[in-house]
Amino acid sequence: MSLSSATSRTGTPASNSERLLILASSLIVAAILGIVTFLLIRERASAEQAAIRAANNIVQLIDADVMRNVELYDQSLKGLISAAQRSDLDHVSAAIRHLALFDRASAAPYKGDILLLDKHGDVLADSASVQPRKANFADREYFRLHAANPAPGMMISRPFRARTTEQDWRISFSRRLNGENGEFQGVAEAAMRLSYFNQLFKNLDIGRNGTINLISREGILLAQQPQLADDLVGKDFSQRPNFVRFLREGYGSFSSISSVDQMPRLYTFSKVGDLPLIVIVALATDEVFGSWRRTALLVSGATGALCIALLWLTLLLCRELRRRHNAEQELARLASIDALTGLANRRTLDLALKNEWARAQRSLQPLSLLMIDVDHFKNFNDRFGHPMGDQALHLVAQTIAACIGRPTDLAARYGGEEFAVVLPGTDTVGASLLAEKIRTSIQDLPAISEQAASLTVSIGINTWSGNPGASQQEWLNNADKALYQAKSSGRNRVVSNMSQGCSRRSA
Ligand code: GH3
Ligand code: MG
Ligand code: MG
Repeated sequence: MSLSSATSRTGTPASNSERLLILASSLIVAAILGIVTFLLIRERASAEQAAIRAANNIVQLIDADVMRNVELYDQSLKGLISAAQRSDLDHVSAAIRHLALFDRASAAPYKGDILLLDKHGDVLADSASVQPRKANFADREYFRLHAANPAPGMMISRPFRARTTEQDWRISFSRRLNGENGEFQGVAEAAMRLSYFNQLFKNLDIGRNGTINLISREGILLAQQPQLADDLVGKDFSQRPNFVRFLREGYGSFSSISSVDQMPRLYTFSKVGDLPLIVIVALATDEVFGSWRRTALLVSGATGALCIALLWLTLLLCRELRRRHNAEQELARLASIDALTGLANRRTLDLALKNEWARAQRSLQPLSLLMIDVDHFKNFNDRFGHPMGDQALHLVAQTIAACIGRPTDLAARYGGEEFAVVLPGTDTVGASLLAEKIRTSIQDLPAISEQAASLTVSIGINTWSGNPGASQQEWLNNADKALYQAKSSGRNRVVSNMSQGCSRRSA
């Protein structure tokens, strides 16, 4: 057992506590980061939900307004048809007939013209003037459908450009006019200007970069408020991925990049009643998450600083622990070695003797002890002085240490100029070989001074080989006796207690 391995055992708990501290701090930091991230993600989701709710409210508001107007248009058409079917109006003046026909039509806002067409598509009555214009609408899709289909009911057309000079976008509502026997007699048709939506959208708050859009099922942009570009209304968006999704899903919300200005937006969309129209509220993502982003930056910054501070404090604490641990280790080392020789001191030796004795009793492995004493050292001191004597002792100790090979062996200063070597698992033969190696190595050391003869040592060996009756004290005493034997029989020799008197090895 070397001295370093004896002291390293005391070091383990300190490094464990360091590891524990770093682990605990890392877990706390991870938990803080996890909680903050979870809260921020939840906050972001609720900001998104709030924006979608607000956008949905706008969509529903538009939907309700449009449906109310569609109802008004239908009332106008029904009024026109029932007035047209009254025979008594044939005998009144054109002005009064005009008043009667379009009596219920005045309420509809942003209305285009309301026309009564005969079965050839020619204009019979025109809300715009008492004298109907000369025009034929037989080519219109709604006219052909009404002519072919006797089923009553209001038909809503696809958006189209008006044939007026304004050429604005309109949508038409129409009903079939039946004769007494249900035969086709013509069509009542009312147009709604889609600029009506611009007016409707204008008053709605959708942020600085949000837009409200009305798009036909065919992908034609009919109204946009505010307008992202001048010539967008009337443009075909049917191939744009966002439109494909509006059409496919019918209603809902998603985040995407605008194909017009490349700005990320949160789109909330829905079909407008039964009309072939889709209304889209597009809120700028920057505005939707602006407040959340500021909070997130603040919270992440503060959390990051907190975590860094925590880790920094942990590192400081670890450094302090390591410093203390090293100091303790150094103290333990100093307390276990002999200052003059650098070998284990008497305290360490006593502990090792006790432990190795107990271990040998358990394992029944042989245990050898060498007691080494420097010969005539008093003379050496007297002659060369104590400082030189100290130097010589140091040299002897280093030589003993250099001869020891196994990590379980322990060389110690027993006291004065005496040393002990504990050799676990070593029998008498092995111990004798090592003792002889020590003896000859010391004898072969170069002389410390020109006047000095070389140093020699006497070594006594005792090996416990499994005798159950022996005690530790006996084992020690017998090693001492062997040393005494070596001294008394001439010094500079090894004597083994098991072979007293017959195994003298001398120089
Ligand atoms: P022997 O061969 O019978 O062992 O003779 P010895 O002179 O070595 O034996 P003794 O016990 O009479 O003398 C031991 C001497 O060792 C006494 C002392 O001066 C010296 N000594 C003990 N410890 C130290 C030390 O730490 N430093 C020095 N320089 N000398 C020491
Ligand atoms: Mg002595
Ligand atoms: Mg001596």
